[in-house]
Amino acid sequence: MTSSQASQTAQTIVVKIGTSSITDDEGAIHREAVADLCDQVADAREAGHRVVIVTSGAIAAGLPELGLGGVNRPSDMITLQAAATVGQGALIRVYREELARRGLVAGQVLLVAIDFIMRSQYLHARSTMSKLIDLGVIPVVNENDAIADDEIRFGDNDRLAALVANLVDADLLLLLTDTAGVFTSDPRISDDAALIEEIERIGNHHESLGGTTGTSRGSGGMSSKIMAAKVASWSGVRSVIADSKRPDVVADAIVSKAGTGTFVKARPGRMSARKLWIAFAVGSHGSVVVDAGARAALERGTSLLAAGVRDVSGSFGAGDPIEIAETGGEVFARGLARHSIEELKPAIGLRSADLSPGSPHVVVHADDLVVLPD
Ligand code: GLU
Repeated sequence: MTSSQASQTAQTIVVKIGTSSITDDEGAIHREAVADLCDQVADAREAGHRVVIVTSGAIAAGLPELGLGGVNRPSDMITLQAAATVGQGALIRVYREELARRGLVAGQVLLVAIDFIMRSQYLHARSTMSKLIDLGVIPVVNENDAIADDEIRFGDNDRLAALVANLVDADLLLLLTDTAGVFTSDPRISDDAALIEEIERIGNHHESLGGTTGTSRGSGGMSSKIMAAKVASWSGVRSVIADSKRPDVVADAIVSKAGTGTFVKARPGRMSARKLWIAFAVGSHGSVVVDAGARAALERGTSLLAAGVRDVSGSFGAGDPIEIAETGGEVFARGLARHSIEELKPAIGLRSADLSPGSPHVVVHADDLVVLPD
């Protein structure tokens, strides 16, 4: 391939690999698994592609040195976060060595949710990633487990990988796992489970195919991969969920080879990382019911005003994620509340002119509001 042909077809790929693919039950890092991934990444680089690795495994890899491996694994988040600081060093060392074997330099990037929510952080992260890629460095990304806030942490790296795909404007998100992709039913319990080779648009039906969560060491599981593929799709990025042990999985995913795994198509358009985060924020602290007129206004891109609100429930403070539903129950939007539920209650249904000074007027600002695509 000439260099101009290579650049015409060059893609930016984010490859995510999970804890269970690269560590054993005790937490020891499988060097061969990391080496195989790094070889495939190096091959993709040689074919002209830009590659970002998102790796889990820091928590699992840190536990054995602290005498907390295997059956001694603690369940409290603070100890796990502390263990990650030990494991992250071991993890990045293996990546550095295995990429160096192929003449590549690894750059460690540790991100937290706030980096996608705050525009200034997002722009810094984006320019650093883009510089790393320009310098020919392979960014090796993980969540900054040591400082991630328990409330908003990504938990699994699948969603982090989808947001990184948005950050670097990727063409492809490859989610590597320990099954061949998404099946019509759980292949561990059903003999006639068939691989779904392509999903045009992820719906509730696919989300329910996710089944159980992941292993005791990793936290992802298939449902978190399906959710990540949905986030990527809303960012305009196509994704593939595939088996990490499949030979040449990276090269095959890049050329969309049939049978590689489950391909999920990108939606037209590109939602910003911040809006993606709002749309997929962990949990919801409450909900607001609005009338049809308010729904139509929100779909046109306006802020939600107190006048359009019919009911509120839950327990939310200013800045908390909430759901927005129409009378009848369908959740059609999500946003960050401007005021606490206590402040909001007396203002429900009141037009701005009827509100006393200082009362909440804007319930969810348009910048903090996402109308969910169908
Ligand atoms: N950031 C975590 C780690 O590196 C992810 C844990 C997981 O979900 O596997 O350990």
